[in-house]
Amino acid sequence: MSPSAEEEVVDLARDLIRIDTTNTGETATSAGERAAAEYVAAKLDEVGIAAQIYESEPGRASVVARIEGSDPDRGGLVLHGHLDVVPANAADWSVDPFSGEIRDDYLWGRGAVDMKDMDAMILALVRQWAREGRKPPRDITLAFFADEEAGSIHGAHWLVENHPEWFDGATEAISEVGGFSVSVTDDLRLYLIETAEKGIEWLRLTATGKAGHGSFTHEDNAITTLSEAVSRIGRHTFPLVLTDTVRRFLEEASDALQIEFDPDEPELAIAKLGPIARIIGATLRNTANPTMLDAGYKVNVIPGSATAAIDGRVLPGQEREFLATIRELAGPGVTVEPTMEQIPLETTFDGALVDAMADALRFEDPGARAVPYMLSGGTDGKALSRLGIRCFGFAPLRLPADLDFASLFHGVDERVPIDGLRFGVRVLDRFLSRS
Ligand SMILES: [Zn+2]
Repeated sequence: MSPSAEEEVVDLARDLIRIDTTNTGETATSAGERAAAEYVAAKLDEVGIAAQIYESEPGRASVVARIEGSDPDRGGLVLHGHLDVVPANAADWSVDPFSGEIRDDYLWGRGAVDMKDMDAMILALVRQWAREGRKPPRDITLAFFADEEAGSIHGAHWLVENHPEWFDGATEAISEVGGFSVSVTDDLRLYLIETAEKGIEWLRLTATGKAGHGSFTHEDNAITTLSEAVSRIGRHTFPLVLTDTVRRFLEEASDALQIEFDPDEPELAIAKLGPIARIIGATLRNTANPTMLDAGYKVNVIPGSATAAIDGRVLPGQEREFLATIRELAGPGVTVEPTMEQIPLETTFDGALVDAMADALRFEDPGARAVPYMLSGGTDGKALSRLGIRCFGFAPLRLPADLDFASLFHGVDERVPIDGLRFGVRVLDRFLSRS
């Protein structure tokens, strides 16, 4: 007899972790996405689901497949994941990050929560449904993308631009960084469903001045001008802006924590949330962090120009405001150019799909309360949203109360609880059969 999805999910996740799909940000030094794509395609082909692999550049492989639903009149649903991972420095880890070791009821390794866990859950589930001849109610597009960790250019964005036909008719999508639990009490857990994402505004600042000898008096030094601009930006606190999603989250969280919600001081509620506060706290306002500096080539030569990089993260609806503020802070003599821009996302926390998520969570965990939240980073949802698809982060995981989940993302000793994976499969099974 074939294994059930719950039995198979751990092996699938483990196999995927063992395929090192480190994305360095450069195609020349990234590897393994092709091998992972072939693994996924083979697992789908084995149960009769025809998968297609696309390469945007050599080795940058994504996999797509379609599963026909029983009600073709309803909009399709996209289940997607990414196959790449960020680099791991093995010397910092307690285990080999690509060994897929099982220890203390956890599966360890780079990608365990970001996001080979969800890749494996999706795979395990569609394999079981195919074996049993079960059809989902809606048409499903499966997508396992390359390159999410470097901005999705060679993965989701490439596929959306070059093969949008795979997503024809799809109205909604689910994927990573949502659906995980944050414990409030023994019998109350918030499950954070991602319904919004901040946008990305990476900027290059350039100051130009007069090049010259370092021993002369010099009024127009590019490094001085740039440093002043960088300090003003780095020290700036953007105003508090409560988007619908963040307000709703804070109201729900305050209610669960039995504290008064004060919209003028949202930090009070956030501070009580534990480690997850780092993510939520970053969604109260725009942020701009200086991250790189480049200027000069010799100690006694004043260079003619100096540049800096700023990692800007922008709330929905705040794009213009953000850039105007940065230009003002940069001041005269410093140009501001975007080097990468990706839109913020926000959808409402309502409708049949959201109800199905909340119901499926509650069925498996009677203490579950589904709440919407905004992710401070970005996901492949940004690419799919360009096709008008509503995107949600829903990769269900019930987590131990004391686990610092946020620190596992791109962190050392990334790991996922085995029973959390099995829980996720059960929730997704119920969710998919009713959505
Ligand atoms: Zn991810």
